[in-house]
Amino acid sequence: MQAAATSPLIDRLPVVRGSYKENAAMAPLTWFRVGGPADVLFVPRDADDLATFLAGCPADVPVLVVGVGSNLLVRDGGIAGVVIRLGSGFTAIEQVGDTQMRAGCAVPDVMLSKAALDAGLSGLEFYRGIPGALGGALRMNAGAYGRETKDVLVEAQAVTRAGDRVILSNADFGYSYRHSNVSDDLIFVSALFQAGPGERDEIEARMNDITSSREDSQPIKSRTGGSTFKNPGGTDPNGPKAWKLIDAAGCRGRVRGGAQVSEQHCNFLINTGNATATDLEGLGEEVRAQVKMTSGIDLQWEIKRVGREAGA
Ligand SMILES: Cc1cc2nc3c(=O)[nH]c(=O)nc-3n(C[C@H](O)[C@H](O)[C@H](O)COP(=O)(O)OP(=O)(O)OC[C@H]3O[C@@H](n4cnc5c(N)ncnc54)[C@H](O)[C@@H]3O)c2cc1C
Repeated sequence: MQAAATSPLIDRLPVVRGSYKENAAMAPLTWFRVGGPADVLFVPRDADDLATFLAGCPADVPVLVVGVGSNLLVRDGGIAGVVIRLGSGFTAIEQVGDTQMRAGCAVPDVMLSKAALDAGLSGLEFYRGIPGALGGALRMNAGAYGRETKDVLVEAQAVTRAGDRVILSNADFGYSYRHSNVSDDLIFVSALFQAGPGERDEIEARMNDITSSREDSQPIKSRTGGSTFKNPGGTDPNGPKAWKLIDAAGCRGRVRGGAQVSEQHCNFLINTGNATATDLEGLGEEVRAQVKMTSGIDLQWEIKRVGREAGA
């Protein structure tokens, strides 16, 4: 029998093989290192365990999956319901046939690019520069250096909110720039990627170029969330760039509490040490307003903002 909605959340959740943690700190699980706790954090043992959880989790309980939090701003009031984080049961990588790679959705993007290099396969080098895990890459259509997830994804396995296993084709994702159209309720567990034959030395050289160009242009050692706003021109190399609009609006280096617009790359927000999520989101909104005033362009957040306001 299911416990009543008035029982503590943890008592209403199904028996699983993975782990539950109540009042779990989220800040250490994100790049910004800010934000309040999750009511419950669930780390499933494997995809069957995840499906069991979702099938047995009462429908009124909010569920949010996170990756490694490199595109996530968790608000200071924390996250209601259950946060799911895929763990070691989702980290397998294997070559499939001559030119494909299958990987679990907790695999860091960087590890997929490295595995493709080891297999002598090209086309996945761009993942070398993206610090997320593959579940986040699938959701965000992560991309860099002229390639995006939509260019390399063949299909993905996912689990629905009801606990059913489904397979999604690339077309099912309805990809556009940094966006997928699939339901937020779907949790991706593994994916198949298309690569091509390549020369190991050339692949490695491209990956090294990506590493050094990142170090030169982005504050990758800071507490940040990557690009804050989408480029209004999408992937069009000649379209308007968010960083240029922010710079022209005079926002480079702007500070609010412990939050700062990066001096190095002004589409990045930084937690300089003691920022709250409120500081960071407030600074982002200040920047949007200033850009709107100076250019007429309404920047759209790329970073996913989740959770409750402080005190809510
Ligand atoms: C220094 C830096 C540089 C960056 N450079 C780039 C770049 O060049 N290109 C680029 O595209 N991005 C870039 N990013 C942003 C970020 O790395 C990507 O968006 C990444 O794909 C997010 O993955 P994640 O695991 O961190 O996801 P999270 O930030 O944890 O989550 C992002 C979204 O994905 C969803 N999600 C996560 N896992 C799953 C899953 N298993 N199933 C379903 N949904 C899921 C979450 O619910 C959330 O909506 C950068 C970030 C930083 C900090």
